[in-house]
Amino acid sequence: MTEETVPGFRAGFVAVVGRPNVGKSTLINALLGQKIAAVSYKPQTTRRIQLGILTNPDAQIVFMDTPGIHKPIHKLGEYMNEAAAATLKDADVILWLVDATRPPNEEDEIVASRLKDSQIGAPTPVLLVLNKVDMVSGAPLEYNQTEYQALAPKARPMRVSALNQFGVKELVAAMTVHLPVGEAFYSEEQVTDMYEREIAAELIRESALVHLQDEVPHALAVRIDEYKERGDIGAYIGATLLVERDSQKGIVIGKGGEMLKAIGSTARQEIESMSGRKVFLDLRVKVNKNWRNDPFVLQLLGYITEKKK
Ligand code: GDP
Ligand code: MG
Repeated sequence: MTEETVPGFRAGFVAVVGRPNVGKSTLINALLGQKIAAVSYKPQTTRRIQLGILTNPDAQIVFMDTPGIHKPIHKLGEYMNEAAAATLKDADVILWLVDATRPPNEEDEIVASRLKDSQIGAPTPVLLVLNKVDMVSGAPLEYNQTEYQALAPKARPMRVSALNQFGVKELVAAMTVHLPVGEAFYSEEQVTDMYEREIAAELIRESALVHLQDEVPHALAVRIDEYKERGDIGAYIGATLLVERDSQKGIVIGKGGEMLKAIGSTARQEIESMSGRKVFLDLRVKVNKNWRNDPFVLQLLGYITEKKK
């Protein structure tokens, strides 16, 4: 990309909002064509601020997560709420994702009221994205859509299925027209570097969630300590799983290190198939009492908003 700029090239930020489980991660994966955001049955897996960067011949779209549209219980929650508000304010377009198979619930109403707040001052275009239309049609779809539209009368409704990639191209086009004309924010190499680290962290976290099932809930974060290319040998990745309590550390390591080995093995295979090269994955587990309340750790993990530009 770098030098050659397509005439009228556009670049901007899209804030992705929606209550847990509506399919945000799935949609981001569909948009980027790569497994970046963690897709999980557990709500709130995605805590990162930046979800991914899509670079097309005519535009670069930076997708921003807006996690934590809820009551903060701890510092992480507060950061998430602040981050969410800032992200909505900074966005060029807001993408409000909803589950078209059901009418809005209380959580959707909370999201809608946050959206309304964000429109004070300079309003931002909102796309109301009705997801999962592979599961609903006809009168129920019409009914649900009307109910969602009542919560955001100015939003433009669009129907998609993130799972089947239905409507995704149209959605990209609808976002692109609202982006300001300008150069790309990130070069191709920057994107790749960020993605590889990001992907690795997400895949390790995802692997941990799969192997641990419900034993260690959300008190788990992944920090990439080292990411080194080793030519033909592949890459060396050193990462730390941060947990909050000694008991959790025991569970993550498992009897004779079995659990950590299993987590690492699955994650390594995933990272290898993603990056197309061999990976040596070195995992450690560390107790950081209340990492969620430690601003330094939160910053390290990228949970604190970076100002754009
Ligand atoms: P998030 O919490 O908003 O990030 O939601 P996820 O992306 O994790 O998706 C939650 C659940 O909805 C998962 O089981 C997905 O497979 C499912 N899902 C997401 N998009 C679609 C869709 O378009 N159609 C159907 N049928 N299921 C979907
Ligand atoms: Mg998610």
